[in-house]
Amino acid sequence: MKLDPTRVTELASNLLHTLSSIKAVSNGNRHVRLVAVSKLKPASDILALASKPSTDNTDHETSHLPHLHFGENYTQELLHKAEILPRHIRWHFIGALQTNKCKQLAENIPNLWAVESVDAAKKADALEKGRKALKEKSPNTEPVRVFVQVNTSGEDSKSGVEPDATYDLAKHIVEECPHLKLQGLMTIGAIARSQAAKEGELNEDFVTLKKVRDQVARDLSWEASKLELSMGMSADYEDAIRQGSDEIRIGTSIFGSRPPKKVATDEKHDEESNKEGEPK
Ligand SMILES: *Cc1c(COP(=O)(O)O)cnc(C)c1O
Repeated sequence: MKLDPTRVTELASNLLHTLSSIKAVSNGNRHVRLVAVSKLKPASDILALASKPSTDNTDHETSHLPHLHFGENYTQELLHKAEILPRHIRWHFIGALQTNKCKQLAENIPNLWAVESVDAAKKADALEKGRKALKEKSPNTEPVRVFVQVNTSGEDSKSGVEPDATYDLAKHIVEECPHLKLQGLMTIGAIARSQAAKEGELNEDFVTLKKVRDQVARDLSWEASKLELSMGMSADYEDAIRQGSDEIRIGTSIFGSRPPKKVATDEKHDEESNKEGEPK
């Protein structure tokens, strides 16, 4: 795969800028994971950030590389990229999840690090089945981390479980899915909420996710810190970190604006149900 040095420098610099602002907002004393959201971007963009800079390059501009965590929204696109890109990448599936794609994701992508959009027990069961099948073939297989996606804004168009239903799904994953690891909760949230937060208010979606997390942790008898909060995108990640986020998912600020979405037939459903996941 050919890398364009100008593009590599540009991406490395965007990533560095994002990492510095995470550090500034979190005061450097709390680890916040950055998932670089590469959907609809070429594999070469990912490789540019996931490669080790050459050893003669001790430039501080690239000392933050390789970056490991990348997020994708579409099953076919992720399957393809995972196939052709290095195994040390830690993939996050963050898009609208279809039950009939779950097994394939968990079974065919050994370095699938997390699925963040689990919103139904049957999807967790299908992921479990896929991971179990992979583990039978490769005993060193790690569990897939999962986040329960919560609909914090109450909008009908949003995917995610209702706050009140979060515990039941979390419990199901912990008790019934030994090849999954409950890692935390995820929300996308409403654009209006991030705008309100820009004007000095708290982002209500982030307030809600944290409240739900604290309650679910209590009900599971877990430390709250054992359940992560995945919240914050390019437009609102600084507020999200101030409100306790453990993981932010950033696309546009690193890779630039995205091309129009693909309309491959097998992605149609993804497209439809993921519309609301798009901030712009
Ligand atoms: C696309 C997407 C992101 C990244 O959005 P940007 O605004 O480009 O940072 C984050 N989370 C989810 C679930 C997404 O679908």
